[in-house]
Amino acid sequence: MTTIMRQHLIDPEICIRCNTCEETCPVDAISHDSRNYVIDAAKCKLCYNCISPCPTGAIDSWRNMPADQAYPTAEQLLWDTLPGQIALDAPAEVGAGGTASETPADVERIAAASTAGQGGAAPPPWSAAHPYINLYGIHNPAVATVSGNFQLTAEDASSDIRHIVLDFGNASFPVLEGQTIGILAPGLDANGKPHHVRLYSVASPRDGERPKYNNLSLTVKRVTEDHDGKPARGIGSNYLCDLKKGDKVNVVGPYGTSFLMPNHPGSNLLMICTGTGSAPMRAMTERRRRKFSAGESLGKQMLFFGARSPGELPYFGPLTKLPREFIDMNLAFSRVPGEPKRYVQDLLRERGGDVARLLRDENTYVYLCGLKGMEQGVEEAFTEACRANGLDWQALRPQLLLQGRYHVETY
Ligand code: NAP
Repeated sequence: MTTIMRQHLIDPEICIRCNTCEETCPVDAISHDSRNYVIDAAKCKLCYNCISPCPTGAIDSWRNMPADQAYPTAEQLLWDTLPGQIALDAPAEVGAGGTASETPADVERIAAASTAGQGGAAPPPWSAAHPYINLYGIHNPAVATVSGNFQLTAEDASSDIRHIVLDFGNASFPVLEGQTIGILAPGLDANGKPHHVRLYSVASPRDGERPKYNNLSLTVKRVTEDHDGKPARGIGSNYLCDLKKGDKVNVVGPYGTSFLMPNHPGSNLLMICTGTGSAPMRAMTERRRRKFSAGESLGKQMLFFGARSPGELPYFGPLTKLPREFIDMNLAFSRVPGEPKRYVQDLLRERGGDVARLLRDENTYVYLCGLKGMEQGVEEAFTEACRANGLDWQALRPQLLLQGRYHVETY
């Protein structure tokens, strides 16, 4: 009897190459080259740790294979599309690398992983609205029309950040604050293949950039150099930043079931972001601002926002006009001539007492978005703020995660 294994694979058409799965895998079964991410069937233990952090679900791909015919990684690296399920003529027998049909324990684990949310292992806030995901894929994208492309950064700023408004016309593209959408840039990459999907956070509330309009906005920084500072032209960001009013854009998604905002009265938001990581915070803040303007009573909003200078801080003007009783705003600037470099974690320390008071409140939901490097600094600041105020961050953190109250999206 042939032994059938359940082989874990990555769909190369949907994968956005964000490296989250490779970072998450506890047994180093995932690797990549310049084109594809692949899974070594001999190493994968089917622990499902990588499933929920994947923003697009590309990692949730499976084929039942005769154990001696599992796709080798060298073959997976050459794929442009996932092969279909091959016909299996032999009855299935439990194999070493997994089972052809899941046991109840497997089903429980898969369900837990797939409802745990994306962008981290945290479930969403208990009162979050139901998110729709994967309504449009690369073979049936929604076609949006650009209805605005506004520069957010000052003319003399070192970066070009844009507020881009996409209108979906008659197409239904429901999103919640904190979700992401995928953009398909036209053209081919260096290998002559279509560009892979680029993800961006939605920067507008669920009822539209303009209330009651079927539109949404994005916050996009034009990428002109790589992580090492060498000149590099970002495919997705330059495509988006160059769009003109009336241009058509292919959009996939929406994605994300975890980084969502609570809906219950009295819930507090503690938001920490750097640069364009402000996009989801802008969506959440604007959702709450509209409620505030309508006279609804809300929990607290506390925002820590880091940028190089006021001229580089997306939405600086509108943010500074928000009333103090609506939001407790803390802006950190790192490159203002004549002033010391300040990061969000410095302000978190300075406001340690108020931060700890919010963390202590079981109605507080924490959101962290932006540069990967900020994560460590923020955790250290939380540790200090908690220690100085009778809390233990190391004990609190896992509780917050479990309760859907701590959400991190950094790149
Ligand atoms: P940036 O302008 O390079 O940096 C923003 C600020 O963060 C600067 O003041 C910078 O200071 C500071 N910073 C640098 N390292 C830090 C650290 N270790 N701790 C705390 N602050 C630090 O930021 P950006 O280019 O806009 O990058 C934003 C990030 O958000 C990107 O990684 C992007 O992928 C991610 N993101 C974007 C979206 C979106 O929808 N567009 C959504 C989610 C996440 P310096 O003066 O030292 O540089």
